[in-house]
Amino acid sequence: MCRCRKFLVASALAILAAGGLSATETLVRNQDEYRDAVKRANPGDVIVLANGVWRDFEILFTGTGLPEQPITLTAETKGEVVISGQSNLRLAGEHLVVSGLVFRDGYSPTNTVISFRRTKGEPANYSRVTGTVIDRFNKLERHEIDFWVLMFGRHNRFDHNHLEGKGNLGVTMAVRLDGEENQRNHHRIDHNYFGPRPILGSNGGETLRIGTSHYSLTDSLTVVENNVFDRCDGELEIISNKSGGNTYRGNLFLESRGTLTMRHGNNAVIEDNVFLGNGVPNTGGIRVINKGHVVRNNYLHGLTGYRFGAAFTVMNGVPDSPLNRYHQVEDVLMENNSIIECDYIEMAGGSDDERSATPIDSMFRANLVFNRDGENVIRVHDDISGISFEGNASNAVGKMPIGQGFANSPIEMHMAENGLMYPAGDELASVGVRADLQVLDKDDTGVAWYPKPAPSQAPSATIVVSPGEDALFNAASRAQAGSILEVAPGSYRVRKTIVIDRPLGIRAAQGRGTVKLEFERPALFELDDGARLELSGLEISGAASPDMSGNSVIRTSRYSMTSNYALTVEDCSVSDLDVNYTFNFLLVAKNTFADAIRITRSEFSDISGSVLSMSREIDDLGRYNGEVISVVDSRFSNIGGAVVDIYRGGTDESTFGPRLEIRSSVLDSVGHNARNKTAASIRLLGVQMADIHDNEFIDSRPIRVTHTVGDPVTRIGGNRFAGTPEPIVGEISAP
Ligand code: CA
Repeated sequence: MCRCRKFLVASALAILAAGGLSATETLVRNQDEYRDAVKRANPGDVIVLANGVWRDFEILFTGTGLPEQPITLTAETKGEVVISGQSNLRLAGEHLVVSGLVFRDGYSPTNTVISFRRTKGEPANYSRVTGTVIDRFNKLERHEIDFWVLMFGRHNRFDHNHLEGKGNLGVTMAVRLDGEENQRNHHRIDHNYFGPRPILGSNGGETLRIGTSHYSLTDSLTVVENNVFDRCDGELEIISNKSGGNTYRGNLFLESRGTLTMRHGNNAVIEDNVFLGNGVPNTGGIRVINKGHVVRNNYLHGLTGYRFGAAFTVMNGVPDSPLNRYHQVEDVLMENNSIIECDYIEMAGGSDDERSATPIDSMFRANLVFNRDGENVIRVHDDISGISFEGNASNAVGKMPIGQGFANSPIEMHMAENGLMYPAGDELASVGVRADLQVLDKDDTGVAWYPKPAPSQAPSATIVVSPGEDALFNAASRAQAGSILEVAPGSYRVRKTIVIDRPLGIRAAQGRGTVKLEFERPALFELDDGARLELSGLEISGAASPDMSGNSVIRTSRYSMTSNYALTVEDCSVSDLDVNYTFNFLLVAKNTFADAIRITRSEFSDISGSVLSMSREIDDLGRYNGEVISVVDSRFSNIGGAVVDIYRGGTDESTFGPRLEIRSSVLDSVGHNARNKTAASIRLLGVQMADIHDNEFIDSRPIRVTHTVGDPVTRIGGNRFAGTPEPIVGEISAP
């Protein structure tokens, strides 16, 4: 091995010497040495950053290499050079290569972490960033925008990188076309690992965007191939294509909530991609808009999304659409795709008064649509006579909405060696994806020396907690992520707010009613970045809380959070939150976001404020405070504010949530406090899916629901209203 490397170096030097140049390798130990080395670098030179943490390092890497002799910036040992603090990287020049760096424990002070240009008009060309990691390098403010990677110039490559955990506003990676020097760029984006990106709760959470609506009729000619998109949940668009002539090939989308969207721009090729949803909510596939695309040989399996987030959506356009709306689907070929065990295929999606231009001159051919139960999954929203259907197959669907072009008989499926499902026998061999489609191996993406996050949570450890001064506080502070605190029977008085920043369960060891908690601070728990708190069997009283307004049992960080949190409350009793006014059960701050809040089999009584007040994003920018809120088998009595207050204002259509369920619960005397500005027991504004059923409302304020955007689904049924007005459901009037 060693000898081999020496031989390679020796021969490389010999070649260079023959050309009259000798390449140098310079190990640099501080920023001055680095700047000096860059100044002196010639084609073929290698600048090596010494192992260690480089804090507050704005790396400017400029130079002019040659095609076979690039100038290289790399790490002494890959993975052991950490760029932290307020740092970033800019490349400008030609034939530059960067590899082996890790951006972690900090954020960029500018709008970009890695930029393929120094400034406007000074791009990098023929350059490459490879084997580099960006891990949670987030700005501190959730809604302060930045980009982790911006590609400018031409003929650049971004490959084998690992990007994980972008939590603040802004696309993870974008290709920019503003400026002639950045157009028809032929970039290549390949073999990258795009790791989990949490739900942002607003537009601007795309993982990859190529172009902008303004330059969408310009060609980019970027190739995106053999990348993994693992749980890229930021928003509706995993990838937003916004320019011409791009290719998306051989990528693997794993449990990602969103779609590969042909948002603007024409003539994209989308082929040989694999989408695996595994039944995760809101996982989607491909959304077709604009003209001239080829969508071929893609495998879509177990995707649950609907409407703009469905497994396969062909949109309606806007007649004479402005650049930033929806162009008509025209001359699109969709062939040999397999859409298996997916919940929805939407044809003429988004049809409404504005989006009235139906697809034209398009072909849907030799596609396989298979669902085991024979339920129809195709929804047709408008005239689709502009799409020719030929030689497709579906699985004996009962109410097939498309009259011709589908064989509709029982299909027997089997799993092939590549792990994908195919029809048995030869009869349908030409329908659906080719037999030789390869599923990308995660290990062939990113880098081998930086771990990819595990698919599911680590196993949990159990810690026993017995009564004693600060017993619960100390146990919670010391517990490893994923631990369960088994709390012995007794009374616990908590003197300090318990800060949770990891998965943690707190359970009454002997079951409901055996553990009593009181707290002396304005909050019992504070949820910080990464919190996943599960409370079970606890009896919580606010009687010992300070006599001041605004207390809460649980609050989020008062500062901006860039990781989401989750809260589960089951078999708990919460009472006496009334020492002063506006005592809430959960108090959320602006710029925080819950993946899920679930309350089950719990009782809440004598509360001066609200139970779940999720209404801090009031700027009407399409933002909100939580994705899934569920209340089941619970009882609320004498609550001054609302049990649930959710606000999601604005007309943006880029998010899935919020989603709410309240069922089999009792609300008794809810909402009558004069400070309850919602004038409701349950107030929902802009909620996308609401299901309120089989509840009992006694002497309470009404349910108030306001629809704002999208196709919101509100189901209110089977409830009993005694001394409570009927629900008030309305639309916000269009601007
Ligand atoms: Ca978007």
